[in-house]
Amino acid sequence: MSYDFDLLVLGAGSGGIACARRAAEYGAKVGIIESNRLGGTCVNRGCVPKKLMVYASHFPVHFEAAQGYGWSVGESTFNWEKMITAVNNEVTRLNGIYQRMLDNSKVQLFRGYGKFIDSHTIAIGEEKVIAQKILIAVGGKPVKPDDIPGIEYAITSDDIFHLKEQPKQMVIIGGGYIGVEFACILNGLGTQVTQVIRADKILRGFDEDIRTEIQEGMQKHGIRIVNNINEIAIEKTDTGLQVRVKGDSEETVVADTVSLAATGRKPNLENLGLENTGVEVVNEAIAVKENNQTAEAHIYAIGDCTDRINLTPVAIKEGRILADIQFGGKSGQMSYENVPSAVFSTPEGATVGLTEAEAREKYGDAVKIYRSKFRPMYYTLPDMQEKTLMKLVVDSNSDRVLGAHMVGDYAAEIIQGVAIAVNMGATKAEFDATVALHPSSAEEFVTMR
Ligand code: NDP
Repeated sequence: MSYDFDLLVLGAGSGGIACARRAAEYGAKVGIIESNRLGGTCVNRGCVPKKLMVYASHFPVHFEAAQGYGWSVGESTFNWEKMITAVNNEVTRLNGIYQRMLDNSKVQLFRGYGKFIDSHTIAIGEEKVIAQKILIAVGGKPVKPDDIPGIEYAITSDDIFHLKEQPKQMVIIGGGYIGVEFACILNGLGTQVTQVIRADKILRGFDEDIRTEIQEGMQKHGIRIVNNINEIAIEKTDTGLQVRVKGDSEETVVADTVSLAATGRKPNLENLGLENTGVEVVNEAIAVKENNQTAEAHIYAIGDCTDRINLTPVAIKEGRILADIQFGGKSGQMSYENVPSAVFSTPEGATVGLTEAEAREKYGDAVKIYRSKFRPMYYTLPDMQEKTLMKLVVDSNSDRVLGAHMVGDYAAEIIQGVAIAVNMGATKAEFDATVALHPSSAEEFVTMR
């Protein structure tokens, strides 16, 4: 069989592009198919525009703090349209960069939706392309629950970047990463936010102290969290939306025109023609073995469409390792342990390694917890009651640091550095032997007793 490409990648998101470029560097002939903008969720509808909006939402706190440092701050106003335009312009700029990166790598871009005709052939409209190896990196998309009457009136995180006007009152359904981050962004920008969650606390799966600290911080900043909810119904009225929620108690929350369904994401597998291949789908995600191989030996899958750890840097690493092995003659395996992650909430949270509960399950009473909670120096002159929490989870038998967790300013930046030590298996004694960098918040990680 003669092939048009050594590698054909379905989906030009973070993982697909990373794999395509790395494979091309090794001399492979590579094609990539994308029907939407380059960069996938992260660049167009996720991490990047979200983080820019997070920055926008922080200014009121800085304006308040500035006064404690002698600045007089005039009346400030916020222009939603201006922010959205600036954010979208930046996304467009990044799209151009991705295009140039693909061109420079000599990866051929096909514009359109790719569909398997058979296990080596992909159709993009009328065109058919045959490839020796195929990578599925088609990502995921938000899902709206079908058990909520009126859910058609709710938008998803994809839509929020295109809202023409800032919502005045918004109900956010869901207490995961996306619900929490958008609750904080909109609240910081001046929207009145009510977040409706099924559990007693936001961010299921995170360390309990982190969940509590972020939730309390959000409430202190004015977000109303209605918890333990088991029934939700949205009704459209002449004046806006009414969201009826039922749980421990029952109430109707008013939203002006939109509520946000932040209730999870699922792999983007519709119309891929997977039925024309031997690729297996389990729990709505592509099933892969070690090294990202599907049930068809020459077809691979990475990133959110495999629904493992749905984070951009994980997909990028999976993609690069795959290219290294398949086209670079290297060996290597992706480690899913000690993957750091952050929630860009206000206050911000970040984490690496085991939570206290996970550690106790594995190491029992040997687990020792170190905690430090303090007001960072920045907030002392303005006398603002913002707090930072840091926590280390340690196995007292080996002295190894199993997990590091933080809530507070720059948590993501700080935990990224700590993650190196945790990933290398550093002990608490080694943390303590590291000289503190003073004055900083991060120094608490090496001075906790
Ligand atoms: P998550 O799965 O994290 O959270 C979904 C939330 O919706 C949970 O609180 C869940 O409640 C709730 N929910 C689900 N179904 C219903 C329902 N029928 N009615 C009411 N509530 C419901 O999904 P997200 O959409 O927040 O995020 C998706 C993924 O995107 C994350 O897993 C993460 O990997 C990635 N992401 C990462 C970010 C980062 O790294 N900073 C930022 C944004 C996204 P319950 O807990 O009770 O099940």
